[in-house]
Amino acid sequence: MIVKHCADCNLVLGRIHIVNGEGNTNANIMLIGESPGHSEDKYGTPFIGRAGKYLRSVLKEVNIDINDCYLTNVIKCKPPRNRLPTNFEIGRCYNHLVKEIVTVKPTIIITLGSTATKVIFQNMNIRIGDVRGRRYNNTECNYIFSTYHPSAALKDKSYRKLFKEDMKEISKVYKSIKYR
Ligand code: URA
Repeated sequence: MIVKHCADCNLVLGRIHIVNGEGNTNANIMLIGESPGHSEDKYGTPFIGRAGKYLRSVLKEVNIDINDCYLTNVIKCKPPRNRLPTNFEIGRCYNHLVKEIVTVKPTIIITLGSTATKVIFQNMNIRIGDVRGRRYNNTECNYIFSTYHPSAALKDKSYRKLFKEDMKEISKVYKSIKYR
């Protein structure tokens, strides 16, 4: 599941670290972001920059135990100037994400932002606004929830409110499965 060496796409040229997923490999919850940012690339750890800190603080606020989470990204290497990953890059990295899902077998997958939502739903036209706040399921996972990316929530107050609302709802489902 850990990617040690990879030169499957052009991102090998600009990255410092491959940023593997991290956390509890038996976690109930898997959170999937887009791609590593500057801090993640520097240290090789997902969600440790500003957006990651905000995400962790909201998880705490809604009583989702970070030790029961596995954090990862659709692509494992930072794109230049934080641009969106291309479909080619997403395709080259997809098998790593699938391996993580199959290994961790989370009860809940949370897609953070548009890229992760499109990839998990296998629908490039999907919009967060249409799927957020609802539960979905597939063969790999009991519940899939989608919400805004924490960096979008940081930038825009209205998204911040919706992001917290979504996390609160997810927390209710989390509690119901954790204590059943
Ligand atoms: N944004 C992401 O999507 N992932 C990270 O790891 C950090 C910021």
